[in-house]
Amino acid sequence: MARYIFVTGGVVSSLGKGLSSASLAALLQLRGFKIRVRKLDPYLNVDPGTMNPFQHGEVFVTDDGAETDLDLGHYERFTDISATKSDNITTGEVYSDIIKKERRGDFLGGTVQVIPHVTNHIKKFISHSVKDEDFIICEIGGTVGDIESLPFLEAIRQFSNDQGEENCLFIHLTLVPFMKASGELKTKPTQHSVKELRSIGIQPNIIICRTEKSIPKAERQKISLFCNVKIENVLQTIDVKTIYEAPISFNKEKLDQRVLEHFKIKYKKQINLSKWKKITNIVLNSKKHVNIGIIGKYVNLKDAYKSLDEALVHGGISNKTKVNLVRIESDKLKKSNLNNIMTQLSGILIPGGFGKRGAEGKIEAIRYARLNNIPFFGICFGMQMAIIEAARNLLKISNASSSEFGNSCTPVIGLLHEWQKGKKMIKGSEKNLGGTMRLGLYDAVISKGTHISKIYNTKRIKERHRHRYEVNIDYKDAFEKKGLIFSGLSPDGFLPEIVELKNHSWFIGVQFHPEFKSRPFNPHPLFSSFIKAAKNYQEKK
Ligand code: GLN
Repeated sequence: MARYIFVTGGVVSSLGKGLSSASLAALLQLRGFKIRVRKLDPYLNVDPGTMNPFQHGEVFVTDDGAETDLDLGHYERFTDISATKSDNITTGEVYSDIIKKERRGDFLGGTVQVIPHVTNHIKKFISHSVKDEDFIICEIGGTVGDIESLPFLEAIRQFSNDQGEENCLFIHLTLVPFMKASGELKTKPTQHSVKELRSIGIQPNIIICRTEKSIPKAERQKISLFCNVKIENVLQTIDVKTIYEAPISFNKEKLDQRVLEHFKIKYKKQINLSKWKKITNIVLNSKKHVNIGIIGKYVNLKDAYKSLDEALVHGGISNKTKVNLVRIESDKLKKSNLNNIMTQLSGILIPGGFGKRGAEGKIEAIRYARLNNIPFFGICFGMQMAIIEAARNLLKISNASSSEFGNSCTPVIGLLHEWQKGKKMIKGSEKNLGGTMRLGLYDAVISKGTHISKIYNTKRIKERHRHRYEVNIDYKDAFEKKGLIFSGLSPDGFLPEIVELKNHSWFIGVQFHPEFKSRPFNPHPLFSSFIKAAKNYQEKK
């Protein structure tokens, strides 16, 4: 029977619940257990697909096309298990399902209430399609004390009662701030947060304290006493230099051992963490380095391109190279400052994006990369901008653009039905932005003898997509005559999936998001190859 571990957070948000859950999952996996990690998000959006990256960070896309919370990306990268639509739920989704049922008359005239209807729905989600997993780790988004978290906390409280306390474990993450003025670590916020949790009926079994400084025994004792948690179960987590160090640091704190003790499962004291140590060492101590410019709109927010940043680090791991991410605000790129900025870089990456703002800066950067032989990687929006740049400057279509930016252009990028009569793409109403994209895994067929075929070393690939607009295949021949090859197409030959420039150090655009499938122990071939090209470029510079 599966055992359930619930991870909540208190005091402040951004304590690293996602990484703690992912690290615990990785440690339990190393001990030979089968795990699954799920995320329960208390916000009212049905999914994060329509949320602004400034507010919510990256939208992570699963194989089966769900737009989910970025923590699912951490889970995938740490456990190498692909998440599915059914590993992330939001309050919005819960209510939308319940209201649909209510409209259908499923409740037979009964009053529909938070308890039991909403809580039952959440409880069902927690344990649905659990097969032979030993542990289900459920992270609860938000912070204890938020109004919107309440139904989720109530549901996990009931769940532990239903399943038996011995089969459930509550981990609570809190902050132990250091007060410079008095030179002290403060435990009071933790005490209050646990008090809040206990008032809902949840007694945490393990408390993980996020702290800048190591917590001395006296403070741990205080937390243990006030929060009613065994002293050995009061653990600390101090900032790590790379996230791949997190499992090592949690193991040092004996998190995995404490969890197994709680469930009365026998365990070996030592586990082999060498694979985590190896990648941590490469990430932190590689002598060689490359500077990769990420040109985007949301560069000031670290979480906006989470999977991309990690995939670049993975590319660095496979090349034993440190990857410095140079974040460049596309709005600020002008012809006049381009040269100064670009000469510091050994590779340019334009990630996914939406809307007109900053697009011209990206197009300028692509032109620079094309003409100056700097490795260039365009992902989704980045590939679309590369097409626009080539259409304007190689095909001399001066008003070439994407219909995403308005209709007064030659749409080399457009919605399918705008330029292919009778072949309308199947999707929802255009007025409704949620869930109207090409999402999740789609196949692409790779042309023989191309650069991309050498990188993937296979004829057919499956990659995750998240976009509405497509490159117009009608321009294929014209582009190819100028050396921009359409080297990957959808199996029906209708949708361009990959373009590459001949006679260039490395110039590839992909309509999909390879970053979602990259793993630290299995770096994505496109990122490995891109970083290798950047390294070569740097050496020749
Ligand atoms: N905005 C573009 C589209 O919808 C690209 C999306 C993306 O980069 N994910 O097609």
